[in-house]
Amino acid sequence: MIDADTRVFCVFGNPVRHSKGPIIHNAALKKQGINAVYLAFEVQDAAQAVQAVRTLDIRGASVTIPFKESVMAHIDWIDPTARAIGAVNTLVNDDGVLKGYNTDCLAAVAPLIPFGIAGKTVCIVGAGGAARAVAYGIAAHKANIIITNRTEQKGLSLAQAVHGLFIPAREMESIKADVLINTTSIGMTPKEDQISFPAGALTSDMVVMDVVYTPLKTRLLEAAEQKRCTTIDGLSMFIAQAAAQFELWTGVTPDTDLMRSILSSNM
Ligand code: NAP
Repeated sequence: MIDADTRVFCVFGNPVRHSKGPIIHNAALKKQGINAVYLAFEVQDAAQAVQAVRTLDIRGASVTIPFKESVMAHIDWIDPTARAIGAVNTLVNDDGVLKGYNTDCLAAVAPLIPFGIAGKTVCIVGAGGAARAVAYGIAAHKANIIITNRTEQKGLSLAQAVHGLFIPAREMESIKADVLINTTSIGMTPKEDQISFPAGALTSDMVVMDVVYTPLKTRLLEAAEQKRCTTIDGLSMFIAQAAAQFELWTGVTPDTDLMRSILSSNM
């Protein structure tokens, strides 16, 4: 029941109406019996959104495109990993002190841990915000990192930041890796007919992960399945980053199986 004690969590971004955050966070709050709601706010400006969080005593917020970088100037404390990545996707309101974290980073790595990361060659396709979170997460596990990206300067700069190797996108076909992670929006609706990495360069011993989750089975994952690679879809990272936010806000580990089943039936 919503009453005067109900606490508020939210996501703010623009656009935000497609967000699956409210579906999974509200289901998890209900399952844990926590008197709180999670709402989506489409906003124009990071500073004003942060001010609203303070004014309304919103207990925690997910931050999404295009505010993950700009929000950093308006909060009180930033976790060192989020600062290194250069993006905050989670705000925690700690008795009026707004703290910023990046849960994408750990979330990208979580689904790969069962396959082992240390000492492996991990190729990351892309050099945007998601790529930065993924690359810092992978670097913490002492893998050999390859970055490939359409815009060479961005790719090179990310590769340098994580002590990896940059290979231009036109040379993707030559890349040999144990793990491949697509972090670009290629393969995402409305680009679902495009593939982010050449199918001819996939081999059956590879683990292939896509951060895109609309559609769930991207062209990359389809090709990887055909080559008998191990595949990890974008929901794994999405759920892991949301679960980490939920824990930061409530101190409780949410039911991730519930989150996945609710999301799968709302795709
Ligand atoms: P971003 O910062 O805008 O970066 C986009 C990346 O995609 C860049 O590397 C860009 O290359 C590349 N790219 C875009 N269009 C391209 C094209 N036509 N050809 C070649 N490269 C292209 O975006 P982001 O925040 O990193 O998000 C990227 C994707 O990750 C989105 O689909 C987002 O929904 C998804 N994501 C998923 C999760 C999850 O939890 N599963 C979390 C975060 C993000 P250039 O550098 O050359 O522009």
